[in-house]
Amino acid sequence: MKTIGLLGGMSWESTVTYYQIINETVKKKLGGLHSAKILLYSVDFAEIEECQATGDWERSGEILAEAAGNLEKAGADFIVICTNTMHKVVPQIQKKIHIPILHIAEVTAAELKLRGIERTALLGTKYTMTQDFYKAKLEEAGIQVLVPDEADMETVNSVIYGELCLGVIREESRKAYRTIIRKLEDRGAQAVTLGCTEIGLLVKQEDTDLPVFDTTLIHGERAAEMAMEE
Ligand code: GLU
Repeated sequence: MKTIGLLGGMSWESTVTYYQIINETVKKKLGGLHSAKILLYSVDFAEIEECQATGDWERSGEILAEAAGNLEKAGADFIVICTNTMHKVVPQIQKKIHIPILHIAEVTAAELKLRGIERTALLGTKYTMTQDFYKAKLEEAGIQVLVPDEADMETVNSVIYGELCLGVIREESRKAYRTIIRKLEDRGAQAVTLGCTEIGLLVKQEDTDLPVFDTTLIHGERAAEMAMEE
């Protein structure tokens, strides 16, 4: 089995989910006492968030590249970055390491395609919903991406940073997300992609008629499968 290098802590609330999903996937496939070989480098998210807010992506890329380099040195066979947003700096990280990065948007796009989705709603941080580094990966795979209007984007984004990344789950916010997803369904979305690794803590399949694509689940499962590949 290969060793997975998890680059986590962004936020740690969802890194916990990754750890569970990966181990559950390995257990399901190999049975018995089998569990995943994992190295975890968990960063201080406050430092990363400050870089995001000030637009200093270069600095956040340096922090993550150094962390990924340490995972490589410690014996990781590939890297899994446990956040959608920080995939913005994947090119910068990849330049500093010799092992592959399992890209969250690529595995999500593959899953959407496999399930025949041509138009998906995308919820995530404002960076993920508005910038090209993420949406382009889905669009390159032939999937159209619908994002909320500006006011709804603000709601989605502030719930992520002000609540979910702090472990706060509020019924009121779940209702707001449900309403936003319904509006995107009315605009023609065939599915909803939870493009932020914490949203799955708030929104579940029972909250919408649309098929839910939880990037944390897809990414975690794919990482486990990749680790078990010959
Ligand atoms: N975990 C979130 C994501 O998947 C947001 C935190 C971050 O900005 O990295 O985008």
